[in-house]
Amino acid sequence: MSEEHTGRNTAERTTSIISDVSTEFVVVPTGVGDAFSEKYYSSGFWIEYAGTSILVDCAHPVRKIMREAAISSGCDIRVESLDAIVMTHLHSDHASGLEGMGFYSYYVAQKPLPLLAHNDVMQDIWPYHLKGTMAPMCDPPDEQRTFQDFFVPMMLQENQPKQFGPFTIECRKTEHHIPTYALRISAGDRVFGYSADTSFNPALLDWLAVADFFVHETNVASHTPYEKLAALPDALRKKMRLIHYPDDFDKASSVIKTLEQGKKYVL
Ligand SMILES: [Zn+2]
Repeated sequence: MSEEHTGRNTAERTTSIISDVSTEFVVVPTGVGDAFSEKYYSSGFWIEYAGTSILVDCAHPVRKIMREAAISSGCDIRVESLDAIVMTHLHSDHASGLEGMGFYSYYVAQKPLPLLAHNDVMQDIWPYHLKGTMAPMCDPPDEQRTFQDFFVPMMLQENQPKQFGPFTIECRKTEHHIPTYALRISAGDRVFGYSADTSFNPALLDWLAVADFFVHETNVASHTPYEKLAALPDALRKKMRLIHYPDDFDKASSVIKTLEQGKKYVL
């Protein structure tokens, strides 16, 4: 990643365009804020490579968020272009859009949407997060919808990379209140990393450090303090961007660049 939001210097970008633009590894942060933000949408990403697109986490109002990211980035960020959702955990600032996305898949697309998550996350999605509002039907009233009416669950496991289209997806458990998984997403020769919500964890940073570019959360309380990340070696900080930062985070003074909502990054 370079200084530019597009992440490439002119020479690299030119080479890429000449060879094949469709194999750019594109990351667009759909939101960069925390659960209490007045300024940003909740943290999440649109990722595309070679014609396949995935959404990492899914906060409400997801279609409005995607539309605004499409306008600002110039990318084709629409539910019609979406191939799967990857979930890190079920706090509502990461998962509140699942209900709307599920109903859209059921009523409009009429095709269940692939949903990838570690089993610790997946097993709670339907019974504790969605069933109460999505299972009941008024016509006929004695029938119930199931999870599989809305989504195609695809399980992630630690130390077992999962292939989805051109993407290889790996997960690693973080330290958070509920089961939460960091991600490494690879395609072509590029690797993108995302800490998800976590307290400061050097072992997790080692795992993320193999990525060409990774995004780390920072916030207060049980989250990762900025000062801990700022004290990391320069080489690591250079390929790190911050997300899930508070509204009053001092971006101008930060020695680690912040990720910017709605910008197009090319790895
Ligand atoms: Zn959380």
